Amino acid sequence: MLALIAANGRAVVQHDRPAPVLAPGEALVRVTRAGICSTDVEVVRGYRAFTGVLGHEFTGVVVSAPDSAWAGRRVVGEINVGCGECATCRREGPEHCERRAALGIFGHDGAFAEFVALPQANLHAVPDHVPDDAAVFVEPLAAACELAERIHVRPAMRVVVLGAGRLGLLCAQVLALTGCDLTVVARRAATRALLAEWGIDAEADTQGLARACDLVVEATGSAAGFELARTLARPRGTLALKSTFHGLATVDLSAAVVDELVVAGTRCGPFDAALRLLAAGRVQVTPLIHARFPLAQGEAAFARAQEPGTLKVLLEI
Ligand SMILES: [Zn+2]
Ligand SMILES: [Zn+2]
Repeated sequence: MLALIAANGRAVVQHDRPAPVLAPGEALVRVTRAGICSTDVEVVRGYRAFTGVLGHEFTGVVVSAPDSAWAGRRVVGEINVGCGECATCRREGPEHCERRAALGIFGHDGAFAEFVALPQANLHAVPDHVPDDAAVFVEPLAAACELAERIHVRPAMRVVVLGAGRLGLLCAQVLALTGCDLTVVARRAATRALLAEWGIDAEADTQGLARACDLVVEATGSAAGFELARTLARPRGTLALKSTFHGLATVDLSAAVVDELVVAGTRCGPFDAALRLLAAGRVQVTPLIHARFPLAQGEAAFARAQEPGTLKVLLEI
């Protein structure tokens, strides 16, 4: 099959990739659409030293599954593959299993391919009226929803989202639903215009925000963002970190101690909630689509995804 793989620091199209071999409990999904995110770019750069098929944001149609009732259904899939046996898996699911793999990130081939294997338990059916172009955003939107799962975002809070990229714009829309006093720092005028359409305040820089925010959501995708986020939080404020990247960040942790900051990392989130938000039209995702490429042009798609200012690049498969 056709696939886009991570090899020697590059994303490379492979024409003769063997089809996935199904592990017990796994379903086979024919991928129809997939999204490139910053994590994919970081994986290619060396994050988790992964060399298989890239991709974890996708929608597709089930070819086969242990329960044949899934066959033919349009689905999205959660990306964590746990052992299913340990106390963590049994108590709270695979997200923090010590033996877990993550689709297209480590230990398990991903979805930038004609077919992907995934545990049947990871699948979620997509409602008929949610188009593929929206369904492909379920995984990052769920990650945005995880902010509200982990952090009590109160309506009276002053909240700033730092980084108005593909994930930051989803975080902003989820946070706006809480009624909080929200500002998004967006350097690009086009992004600020998009936020204005959604009724969300945007600023071109962080002027006036220093030490002013109850909650700072760091979604810049870069190491430098962590320290900037720290400087915006008020004493006893909260830093919510969303970026994963290859490398280490330099942060003045002593200042964080003195300011008694709470630091919360959040990662994968609830797919059902994301599907509900999309089905009800409460979060807009199609304005984030900046380009589409067939999978065979996956290398060009990857290059496009890394151009400054580019939001979501989709692969059509
Ligand atoms: Zn992603
Ligand atoms: Zn486990």
